[in-house]
Amino acid sequence: MSRKPSIAIVGGGFGGVGAATMLRRQGYEDVVVFEKGERVGGVWHHNTYPGAACDIPSHLYEFSFAPNSWSRRYAPQAEIQRYVEGVARRFGVLGKVRTGTEVKAAAWNEERGCWRIETSVGAHEADLLLTACGQLSVPKVPPIDGLESFAGPAFHTAEWRHDVDVAGRRVAVIGTGCSAIQVVPAIQPLAAQIDLYQRSPGWTFPKMDHEYSPRARALFKRFPILHRLDRAAIYAGQELGTAALTSQGWLRPFARAVGRRQINSAIADPELRRKLTPTDEIGCKRIMLTDDWYPALNQPNVELVAERIEAVTADGIRDATGAERPAEVIVLATGFASHDFVAPMEIAGRGGRTLAAEWGEVPRAYLGLTVPGFPNLFLLYGPNTNGGTGSVVNTLECGIGHVLAALDEMESRGAERIEVRREAAERFDRELRTALKGTVWQTGCTNWYVDEDGNDPSNWPWLWGTYRRRTQRLAPGAYDLVH
Ligand SMILES: Cc1cc2nc3c(=O)[nH]c(=O)nc-3n(C[C@H](O)[C@H](O)[C@H](O)COP(=O)(O)OP(=O)(O)OC[C@H]3O[C@@H](n4cnc5c(N)ncnc54)[C@H](O)[C@@H]3O)c2cc1C
Repeated sequence: MSRKPSIAIVGGGFGGVGAATMLRRQGYEDVVVFEKGERVGGVWHHNTYPGAACDIPSHLYEFSFAPNSWSRRYAPQAEIQRYVEGVARRFGVLGKVRTGTEVKAAAWNEERGCWRIETSVGAHEADLLLTACGQLSVPKVPPIDGLESFAGPAFHTAEWRHDVDVAGRRVAVIGTGCSAIQVVPAIQPLAAQIDLYQRSPGWTFPKMDHEYSPRARALFKRFPILHRLDRAAIYAGQELGTAALTSQGWLRPFARAVGRRQINSAIADPELRRKLTPTDEIGCKRIMLTDDWYPALNQPNVELVAERIEAVTADGIRDATGAERPAEVIVLATGFASHDFVAPMEIAGRGGRTLAAEWGEVPRAYLGLTVPGFPNLFLLYGPNTNGGTGSVVNTLECGIGHVLAALDEMESRGAERIEVRREAAERFDRELRTALKGTVWQTGCTNWYVDEDGNDPSNWPWLWGTYRRRTQRLAPGAYDLVH
């Protein structure tokens, strides 16, 4: 191909903005980003619930090429949203984003050697297609009997109803995962009563969040090396955590001791402590970082209900013991449909075969990025690129680095198409499934990574340094390039 290829990106979160920016910095100007929301930002645009913040320190939860002066160690949602928009503006890619545009389907056109993309406002063609749809962008609500009969407002944390005032009202929160532990401490001082419905408790670690003083921020700005050193230290700590969750299980008892100590020192009531202490292995569910969850649970207006929900009624929730608690508002902190990846968008590759058909029950991709039969397609933050630790922004940058390596290779070989070889993809998949068997996520708890059949389409079973190393160059023989 003599001209630079045209590139379409689906999704305008960290992934889409990062890809458009990194591509532009390498001279790829013919780039368009389709985002179904009204703004860029992805989860940080959509999740505006009270208390929303990152749980990986901001010096690592940012693009390596755009260090930021954060207000605190773990930035709140609005600040992260401003950052993503700011990066898009500063690197000149905001104008490439078509907001309010949903991609419905994409099909590979073999004759023309390009992707035809059907959007909510018309069709588009591009040489390369990158999906950056996130793993946590589709809210999930489990089937709960009677939920539709509830008379008051009931909404998911990712679709927070800012027109609903929780002050002085009885609020039922369903779920005790990563969103609940942020939202409950934020609304507890306002609500008359919070009934918190827990399926199973998760392990926590102290977050040790704090504001950066003006002096600390000035130092980070004046001496960027300090910012980089802090980033490197956070990265090393995350890698230690990754080792504990994957191959170095002997580290887990130390982590469990930290988690247990946090509960025991915060919760005096033995019955509440029992309900809050997980019985499963630490890290099997995502470890949650918090400083204010247990103090909030100690407040007289919060009740932890560990019994299963039997049904939602018009004005409350009945648990499995038959006890019914009135509620005026229901908050569904029930997580996301994380295994659907690009769905509901339909992607058809060579011969019209869809990604859904290729995947069957378990989504899989070579390095989480490429799928045999789907030329010039890259899935950012695709199957098995999530983890219990590490910054997804770093993972996304590695994936985008792989796309750039592929584009380089195409340019130097004069190729128009690139497609992962089936043998390479299958070899990688075997290696991955074997490594996953030894991870903590397979130790038998319910978590959002592993499906009911024990398959894990979510997580990366090695260090993040390994992901970087393996993605930054194309392994010899992994790809077919077609002229
Ligand atoms: C509340 C919350 C807190 C989190 N905190 C952290 C954290 O601290 N650290 C961490 O590493 N990770 C965290 N994550 C994980 C988070 O998903 C990633 O960090 C990261 O934001 C993913 O970026 P993304 O661009 O891949 O996906 P997303 O941010 O999910 O963006 C995907 C975008 O694609 C759009 N889209 C999807 N399908 C289509 C379509 N068909 N057409 C057009 N647009 C489409 C969506 O509207 C969305 O805006 C958090 C997630 C949530 C929900």
